[in-house]
Amino acid sequence: MSGGGRPAYSPVTEGVLSDLADILGTYGVSADREKRAAYSLDETLPRFEGEYRADAVCFPESAEQVSRVMKYANDNRIPVTPRGAGTGLSGGAIPLYGGIVLSMERMNGILEIDAANRTLTAEPGVVTSEITKLARERGLLYAGDPCSGDISFIGGNVAENAGGNKVIKYGATGAHVLGLEVVLPDGRMVELGGKRRKDVTGYDLIHLIVGSEGTLAVVTKVTLNLLPLPKRVTDLLVPMPTIESAMNLVSLITTRGGVIPASIEFMDRRSIQNVEEYTGMCIPHSDAGTQLIIQLDGMDRGQLWNDVERVGDICAGGGALEVFVAEDRNARDRVWRIRRLVAEEEWTGSMPLLSKEDIVVPMGGISAFFELLPAISQKHQATYNAYGHIGDGNIHITLFPESADAVEEDTAKSADSLRRDLYAAVRELGGTLSGEHGVGLKKKYTDIFLSRAHIDLIKSVKAAFDPNDILNPGKIVM
Ligand SMILES: Cc1cc2nc3c(=O)[nH]c(=O)nc-3n(C[C@H](O)[C@H](O)[C@H](O)COP(=O)(O)OP(=O)(O)OC[C@H]3O[C@@H](n4cnc5c(N)ncnc54)[C@H](O)[C@@H]3O)c2cc1C
Repeated sequence: MSGGGRPAYSPVTEGVLSDLADILGTYGVSADREKRAAYSLDETLPRFEGEYRADAVCFPESAEQVSRVMKYANDNRIPVTPRGAGTGLSGGAIPLYGGIVLSMERMNGILEIDAANRTLTAEPGVVTSEITKLARERGLLYAGDPCSGDISFIGGNVAENAGGNKVIKYGATGAHVLGLEVVLPDGRMVELGGKRRKDVTGYDLIHLIVGSEGTLAVVTKVTLNLLPLPKRVTDLLVPMPTIESAMNLVSLITTRGGVIPASIEFMDRRSIQNVEEYTGMCIPHSDAGTQLIIQLDGMDRGQLWNDVERVGDICAGGGALEVFVAEDRNARDRVWRIRRLVAEEEWTGSMPLLSKEDIVVPMGGISAFFELLPAISQKHQATYNAYGHIGDGNIHITLFPESADAVEEDTAKSADSLRRDLYAAVRELGGTLSGEHGVGLKKKYTDIFLSRAHIDLIKSVKAAFDPNDILNPGKIVM
C-alpha cells in the first residue's frame, strides 16, 4: 500500500508499452511527451498545467480492446483514467496517479437510430451535437444536450450526468439513458438495459454508473431515448431589476402560469457587462440586476403562443423591465449568443481565477443565497459573476480576487477558505456541491454535504466495482 492507503501502482515500463501495443496496435498507444501532457488536462479552472501526467495514452477502437486493456491494467495494478473530449470542469479526466489515459475518441460511431423505438445507440466518443443533429433530421429530439454539446462526447456526458439548459423540462443526461454497455475494471463486459422503457429486474445499475465520473466502469456503448421534436420554439429575453424578482417570476411561471419552459437561464449584471466589454456588443438593460432567458417549445403555433402570452403577462406583472420575444432563428441565436459568451469571457479574462462553482440550491433558497453571497465574497476580498440554470437551481459562480493587489501569494489557500464559507451557506440552505460538473478534484469538500454513512456507502460501492482501485483513482471521495 502507498501512503494514502491506495495499492502501490506499477510503473508503465517499456515492457508495458509493448504489451499495450500488442492489444491496440502500434498507433493505438502513445508515450509521446506532448501527447501525454495534452491528454492529462481538461477545462477545469484554475488549470492544473503540468501537475499530473499520464505515462501512456491509449486509443481503443472497440469494447473488446477496452476490455483487454482493463484486464491487463487490473492484473498489473496500473491506474486507468477514462477520457472523453476533455471538456470537463471538475478534473475528472486528469490522471492523478499517472498510468494510462484511455481516450475514447476513436470509438466514435453512431451505431443505430431506431425510429420505431425512438432510440439512438452510439459509441462513447461521438460528439453530442452529432446525436442531436441526426435525431433532429429524423424529426426526433435528443433532449440531453449540454451547453458543451459541440465539443463534448456522449460518453463524457453519461459519466458526468451532464445537465445544460433543458433540465427543467427534460431532465439531465441520465433521464435519457435507456441502456449502457460497460467494461468493469477487471475487464468483464456487462450490458445494462437496452431499448426497453421499463426494467426493474435487479438494481438500477445504469443510473449508478451515470454520473460516476469514470470511477466504476468504462462506458463503451450508450442507448438513448429520443422524444418527438417540438416544432415551434420561442425565446424570451427578460431583464429583471433584481435576482429576487427574477426568482419570484420563475416560481410564478411554473406554478400559477402552469407552464414548464424548456429553459430558464439567468445572467447577473456583472456577467452581462463583462460580455459587453469583451465583445463591444450593446445589450439592452445591461445595468439590470439580472437577465433571464426563457425558452418555450411546443408542437403547434397556437398552443405555443398561448404559453408565450401567459409567460409574457407574468413577466410584465412581475416587474420585468422589458420582454423581448425572439421567434425566428436569427433573433434566437442572438439571445443565446449572449449566454454562451458569458462562459467564454471567463476563459479569456486577464484576472487570475480563484474558483469556478457549480452549486445547487433548492429554488426557495436562491434569493437567500444571493443575499449571503456578497458578504462571503467581501470577507475573502473576492468578486464574482453568476449565471446558469436558474430554472433548476444550478448556479455557476466564478470568483476572482477583488484586484490584482488582492491576489494572495497562496491562491489555492485563499480559494479553499472562500469555498468552505460558500459551501457552508449552500449546505445551510439545503443545497449541494455540484449540479452537473461533478465532484472530481473537489473531493475534499464532500464531507460538508454527505454524511459519514453516505460516504462509507460510496466507498463500498467503489470497492465492489474496483477492489484494486485502478479506475480513475482519487476522484469523488477522499
Ligand atoms: C464551454 C463549456 C460549457 C460547458 N457546459 C456544460 C453544461 O451546460 N452542462 C454540463 O453538465 N457540463 C458542461 N460543461 C462541462 C463538460 O462539457 C461536461 O462535463 C461533459 O459531460 C464532459 O464530457 P467530455 O467528453 O469532455 O468528458 P471528459 O472531460 O473527457 O471526462 C469527464 C469525466 O467522464 C469520464 N469519462 C469520459 N468518458 C468516459 C467513458 N466512456 N466511460 C467512463 N468514464 C468516462 C472521465 O474519466 C471524467 O471523469 C461545459 C464545459 C465547457 C468547456
